[in-house]
Amino acid sequence: MPMGKRYAVFGTPISHSQSPRIHAAFARQTGIELDYVSIEAGHDDFAAKLAASGAQGANVTLPLKEDAFALCRETSERARRAGAVNTLIRDGDGWRGDNTDGLGLVRDLTERHGLDLRERRVLLLGAGGAARGVAPALLDAGISALFVVNRTPERADALADAMGEPGRVHARGWDALPALGEFDLLVNATSATRGGALPPLPMALAGLRSAAVDLSYGEAAVAFLAWARAAGCTHAMDGLGMLVEQAAESFLLWHGVRPETDPVYAALNGQGDALVTAD
Ligand code: NDP
Repeated sequence: MPMGKRYAVFGTPISHSQSPRIHAAFARQTGIELDYVSIEAGHDDFAAKLAASGAQGANVTLPLKEDAFALCRETSERARRAGAVNTLIRDGDGWRGDNTDGLGLVRDLTERHGLDLRERRVLLLGAGGAARGVAPALLDAGISALFVVNRTPERADALADAMGEPGRVHARGWDALPALGEFDLLVNATSATRGGALPPLPMALAGLRSAAVDLSYGEAAVAFLAWARAAGCTHAMDGLGMLVEQAAESFLLWHGVRPETDPVYAALNGQGDALVTAD
């Protein structure tokens, strides 16, 4: 495979990543030849591994989105609002950065799951790279209020400040949850459930009109989604749809072609065969 066709996803842990399968499926679907690999990297060795990879483009996942933002010579407006980059595009000997996470989440919620986000009261759990990516897109989708709740309250404050809308965005610590009332949409953007250790959530946060989404998927989303169903949520979704949608947006940025996401989502969800390779 020529080096010009190489793409990669960087993060820790990375062995669980579905991104190589998704991009391989998009490549087959669009007839674009590419090689997409996953590379384990942390704060200390990310820049060196990125440089050594020979990649033309890269995705960046936990915990490297803010590191990726810092190494770009140019960033998109949505990446700057998020202060986080999940998509790197080679630009000569440097990188341009973008963030497709927010668009991916909003597309999944509105187009795949048919939710109307306008005038919705939204709880965002977490203030890391993923939360920073999705907050601006939720605001742009017309929600009425965004409560950012994080274990480290200073990071929730920083996220809320960065949004620049004090009337609509509010930061709170975890201990404030019992007093916040019911939400229309609850978004788990913490990495806590990876270890099964999400702090307890009051049932009163959700009701029969509520929807819940965990940005994680598979095993990591089980605990939060079980809580959401027990609390009465009508919709409880994991982050697989967002993952496929943000990947399609990265693919568009790199190759100028938007792939079809539904067959790839169905295959990852065990309902289709788009990921079955002929080779
Ligand atoms: P970061 O490491 O940047 O942030 C982690 C967040 O989780 C922080 O807010 C952190 O709080 C919080 N957290 C971690 N452990 C705990 C705990 N035990 N209790 C409470 N809060 C905790 O990660 P990302 O933001 O990049 O990723 C978050 C999740 O979103 C991951 O599961 C990731 O896989 C998923 N994701 C999914 C995507 C998709 O396309 N579906 C895209 C991007 C991310 P504190 O600030 O206090 O440390």
